[in-house]
Amino acid sequence: MKNKIRQQAIDLGADDAAIVPTGMISVEDQIVEFCRAPLCESYGNCAHCPPHAISPARMRQKLASYRQGLVFKVHAPTAILQTEEQFPVFRKVFEITAELERYARSVGFERAVGLAAGSCKSVFCKKVSCLLLESGTDCRFPSLARPSMEATGIHVFKLIQDLGWEIHRINQATDPRQVHTGSIVALLILE
Ligand code: SF4
Repeated sequence: MKNKIRQQAIDLGADDAAIVPTGMISVEDQIVEFCRAPLCESYGNCAHCPPHAISPARMRQKLASYRQGLVFKVHAPTAILQTEEQFPVFRKVFEITAELERYARSVGFERAVGLAAGSCKSVFCKKVSCLLLESGTDCRFPSLARPSMEATGIHVFKLIQDLGWEIHRINQATDPRQVHTGSIVALLILE
C-alpha cells in the first residue's frame, strides 16, 4: 500500500518520492532560526510559520509516534525559483501534499499528516492577512495550507542528502548556468 502512495505522488506530479523511516528525519531548533535571520516576510505573520508553527520540540515528539513517512520532490529551473514565478511551483507542492494526505487517509493511514515547502502566506495569502492567525480557527485555504517541513525544524537538506538525492541551496546569488535546477521537497508523515 505504501508503494501505491509513492506512485500516487508521482502520478500527481512529483519528480521522485521515497518511503523513509521517521528515524531518518532530524529536527533541530536552529533550523527555524533561518526563518528569522535573514527575516522572511512570513515570519510572525502566518499561523503555519515560526514562531506560531508547531515547535521543533513538538515535532520531535510527534515524529516519535510515527514509524514511516513519504518524502517527495518537485524540480524547477533555478531561473524560475529566483523570481515570482516560483509561487505556482510551490502551490503545486502544496496541492500534491494535501491530495496525498487525503489519499493516504482514505486507504487506511488515518494519521497521515502533510508538511509542504515554503510559506502558505506567500503562496495563498500574499496580499491579505493570515486569517488563521487572527481568528485562531479559520484558514482561508484549509484544504491546501500546511506548515512547511523547515517551519517545524526539520533539517530538509540533511534528509535529502541522506536519501542520496541531489540538492542545491538556491538564492539570488546562484548562477542558473551552473545550477540548472532546484528541488522543492515535502513530506507526508504516514504511520
Ligand atoms: S493559507 Fe491559511 S494559514 Fe496560510 S496565511 Fe492564509 S489564512 Fe494563514
